[in-house]
Amino acid sequence: MKKKLYSISVLIITLLLTHSVMSCKKTNRQTPEKSVSLKETALKTMGHDSPVKSIPEEVAKRIHSDAIVMDAHCDSIMKVVDDSVDLGVRSDRGHIDIPRMKEGGLDVQVFAVWVDTHTTEGEIKKRALEMIDALYDTLNKYPDEIELAETAADAGKIVKNGKIAAFIGIEGGHAIEDDLENLRLYYDKGARYMTLTHWEANNWADGSGGEAKWHGLNEFGEKVVREMDRIGMIIDVSHVSEETFWDVLKITKNPVIASHSNTRALCDHHRNLTDKQLKALAEGGGAVCVNYVSGFLDEEYRKQAEAMYEKIKPELDAIEKKYRDNPGEGRKQRWKYYGEKSKEMLPPVKLDRVIDHIDHAVKVAGIDHVCLGSDFDGFSIGPVEMTDVTKLPLITQKLIERGYSEKDIKKILGENLLRVFGAVLDKNQQEQK
Ligand SMILES: [Zn+2]
Repeated sequence: MKKKLYSISVLIITLLLTHSVMSCKKTNRQTPEKSVSLKETALKTMGHDSPVKSIPEEVAKRIHSDAIVMDAHCDSIMKVVDDSVDLGVRSDRGHIDIPRMKEGGLDVQVFAVWVDTHTTEGEIKKRALEMIDALYDTLNKYPDEIELAETAADAGKIVKNGKIAAFIGIEGGHAIEDDLENLRLYYDKGARYMTLTHWEANNWADGSGGEAKWHGLNEFGEKVVREMDRIGMIIDVSHVSEETFWDVLKITKNPVIASHSNTRALCDHHRNLTDKQLKALAEGGGAVCVNYVSGFLDEEYRKQAEAMYEKIKPELDAIEKKYRDNPGEGRKQRWKYYGEKSKEMLPPVKLDRVIDHIDHAVKVAGIDHVCLGSDFDGFSIGPVEMTDVTKLPLITQKLIERGYSEKDIKKILGENLLRVFGAVLDKNQQEQK
């Protein structure tokens, strides 16, 4: 009985927190339409003669600026460290900087800390901390524009004050160098999720690419998951193998996210989630955040990209060999070459494919379990329209065109993801008090 009362009080606290976060962005927000689609409403208001094309743009603009727009994954800190990018200065290179985030109406961004898996053991943690420091430097340089968030309530307050809320996520469990002390260190530095693996297996969990080493999580991997639950760090299952995914769900007591993954039914890439996985994620209260990477969006593109990779592999290997003493530069040069060849040889993918994946995920997982996880600054080829973060309102516009209600669009744009963050982060903070 005592346990039940405790669970209910936790639930109430979580819901209260989530509600206060959701309702604080704008004070003059309008009541969302419930059953009639926005396109129909707009047509009724403006008359059937008005060009349909211009209507969604107007409505999209208002909804987009009203909504809390949150993105679960970008690789922009890598550019800050490697290319000395100043995120406070508007650029026409890369996908993200503060001025362009504002223009695109992006309110909350999770900055991923990704360390190349080829980095020498012992150097991984050093590099991860260097990346976190680089984000801190940006936050300190632009305190009126962007601020670190450690809970969903923090994010709500920061956005209400007219700033961008920045979360930190660790991409790839190899960053903890097989030591739970490092996991706690990253948490103390502000990291609030960890993607358990990168492309391939690490020393305790299998990734979706490469050979299965552990057939899921090994004993230490299970310990990592339990420790993340205990300290209140969100588990990110993007990049993990199916076996790892199911092992995680057996152990964790928290909702989990896939910070940047699409649906396998539409594009059969190992980085995407099957319908069975989508359903399980939703049943646990989690969410899948759809990314804008052409190779994970479009089946035809994926097939052609695979064939292209085989063709250009000798050149890619030669680049790797050339930069053997400087793997960071080697990786950059390989990506550059791969990007150039992709533009040259592969078919363009349209933004509609992103909406197709959102649609499918909504159908399978439900409207409360789908979110955005761009992977901005982490890919070379995305949908032709999505050239950078300023184009985000196009997603809102396309969702209107597909007949989504305002209430549902706002869930996809950010409310769903923030709810999951609240359910893990804010709940944990309450329990610590
Ligand atoms: Zn990734």
